[in-house]
This record gives sequence, C-alpha cells and structure tokens, in this order.
Amino acid sequence: MSKEIADVIERRILDVVRKAGEKGILQREIWAKLSIDSRKGHRILKHLEAQGYIERIPVTYRGRRTYIVKPTSKLFAVVRIPPVLEEIPCFYCEHLPHCSSGYRDPLSCEKFIAWLKASKTVRASVGVAT
Ligand code: SF4
Repeated sequence: MSKEIADVIERRILDVVRKAGEKGILQREIWAKLSIDSRKGHRILKHLEAQGYIERIPVTYRGRRTYIVKPTSKLFAVVRIPPVLEEIPCFYCEHLPHCSSGYRDPLSCEKFIAWLKASKTVRASVGVAT
C-alpha cells in the first residue's frame, strides 16, 4: 500500500471515529463503512493509536474478541482541512519541501496547474473567472 493511499485511509478512518464520538465504533463497522480489509485496517489503527489519535478498547461482540475504537482528545484537537483543499496535489507530493522552500516553482508544476484549472470551487472562492 502506497503512503498516499495509507494517508487517505487514515484520514477516512479518523473521520469515521470522530463522527462516532465518545461511544466509539466497532472495528468491523469501520471496515464495512470504508470497504477496507481488516488486515490493512488493523495495521492503520495500530499506527493511529500509537500516534495518540484513537484508543482501542477490547470487547467481546457476538462471542468474538474485537475492539471498540474511540477518539482521543488529540483527535478533536486536529485542525480539519476542508475537502476542497484535500484535493491539492501538493499535500501528497514528495517535492513539497522543495516547493515550499523556493527551490521549485509551483507555477511551473503541471500537477498543480491542472488541479488549479480543474477546481471550480477554488477559482470561484478567489474570484477567478471560469
Ligand atoms: S507544486 Fe507540484 S511539485 Fe510542488 S509540491 Fe505541489 S504538486 Fe508537488
């Protein structure tokens, strides 16, 4: 699994857990909601738990051991990025440190220009004609 895909899955899991609130959500419900396989999901949950965004509480559900996943206060402290901004290619680009430090010019980047041209929402919000 590429880092970009893992990052997207992490964000989607965090959204689901955040929405579940204090009562939490069973792991299996996360897999079903996001259509991800339990082995990959389990690995990501362990990573998120190690980072302090979630806690997993062991429970027995219908005779099987599983976990309820609950958000931590750290998860609620995370700044949410509006969905339109999540589509910016720079967030998933290995060159971001070079662009942000001025070694590359974002305006010469095909990925960035293509996103800018395709994003009607961004153009509208900054007042650029379509
Ligand atoms: S402008 Fe292009 S090269 Fe630079 S970080 Fe964004 S996508 Fe990557």
